[in-house]
Amino acid sequence: MTQFSDLKLIAPIQQALKDTGYETPTPIQAQAIPVVLEGHDLLGIAQTGTGKTAAFSLPILNILAERQTKRHPRCPRTLILTPTRELAIQIHTNLQTYGKHLRQKYAVIFGGVGQGNQVRDLAQGVDVLVATPGRLLDLIEQRYLNLERVEIFVLDEADRMLDMGFMRDIKRIVPMLPPKRHNLFFSATMPPEIQTLANTILRSPKKVEVTPPATTVKRIKQSVMFVEKKEKLNLLVHLLKNKDLHKVLVFVEMKHVANKVAEKLEKSGISAAAIHGNKSQGARQRALEDFTQDRIRVLVATDIASRGIDIDGITHVINFELSNVPESYVHRIGRTARAGTDGDAISLVTAEEKSYLYAIEKTTRHKIDIDRDQPYHSDEAENASTMSVGKAKAIIEGQRGQGGGGGRRFSRGGGGGRRGGSAGGGGGGPRRQGGGSSSSRPSGSRPSRSR
Ligand code: AMP
Repeated sequence: MTQFSDLKLIAPIQQALKDTGYETPTPIQAQAIPVVLEGHDLLGIAQTGTGKTAAFSLPILNILAERQTKRHPRCPRTLILTPTRELAIQIHTNLQTYGKHLRQKYAVIFGGVGQGNQVRDLAQGVDVLVATPGRLLDLIEQRYLNLERVEIFVLDEADRMLDMGFMRDIKRIVPMLPPKRHNLFFSATMPPEIQTLANTILRSPKKVEVTPPATTVKRIKQSVMFVEKKEKLNLLVHLLKNKDLHKVLVFVEMKHVANKVAEKLEKSGISAAAIHGNKSQGARQRALEDFTQDRIRVLVATDIASRGIDIDGITHVINFELSNVPESYVHRIGRTARAGTDGDAISLVTAEEKSYLYAIEKTTRHKIDIDRDQPYHSDEAENASTMSVGKAKAIIEGQRGQGGGGGRRFSRGGGGGRRGGSAGGGGGGPRRQGGGSSSSRPSGSRPSRSR
């Protein structure tokens, strides 16, 4: 097995890895680090949880330290573009950890907060800038930032960028980079639009691909509970009466459902908070902090809001609503059983969601056990005939759209938060690709996200 000492990383980085307690590189790190150190462009197919942040951060720090190009005000030497604030903050924190024995400067910029500190950091000159696309463009338009001197460009979570309607922003950003540069491109999945984007950005890339960490998934005890839609909240409250469910991440598909679930839990005496794209940055960080510190027991989240959350000690993941994208299931349940611990993943499934369940079982090649030992078990849901994913999607999205108040699934024109593709086939529900024009928005205003 490859050891970090086998990878040609300079001593200050090796020391930081020792300090952090990393012993062996993860598969994506073992494959990607030598390729990047040799100067190749990289196409990395990997998702959060595989160690991909270090897979790109470590060789970048190494290259920058060896090259020692001068820092210029407002002109970062490396740009890491990532879709969410949470991921941006996490990558920045990791850079500080891995680069703590180096004399390099790292900055992070994202929307939803004042820009003053970010502008000040950029003015001093930075070696690595981590950014979300919206704030990046805002600061470029205001001339606080210039991409002319970028030596290394990382596009992280490209498929999520597409989901969140950032494609247009990315297509504006890429031509601002110098033509001669080193490119690293990461995506968990490679739908055709992402492949096309990769082809326009990368030059003769080496490809590395890792599947979700199977050992982690294997350690997770997965179960399905069949239930009527109207009983889901009651079932959730019932499950949470069991104190073994100590630190619980609940996944929903829609923002308004996240609010509704958190409110119901609070009313039932279970401490909970919701995070989703409509919550302010402050509220999201407070909720995450409360959950991390065990001040609340349950965090209710949408996929995108939860992206990149890396919280140890989550005992249970509950899918209150299933996603029609099987990979999301794998992402979700991977939040438990971190760092060698065990974990449970429970999915509450209605008759309509059964076809999503089958798509998940097909993708993961794992038949999930049915738990009928619960008071809201529905034989009807369990025995319902399975429809196509497309038909199920149309019905479920119709149901979810009802009574949603602020939770409309398809935002008009803004293009902020649509899931375009569906790994499960889709086709049944209304579709509008995220394509809002960022150039037509006034500077500073970003599309709202529907998740
Ligand atoms: P990521 O996929 O980059 O979000 O990383 C997932 C988690 O794995 C983070 O908590 C990292 O700190 C951790 N991690 C990354 N690489 C290693 C490694 N080689 N050994 C141990 N933990 C790691």
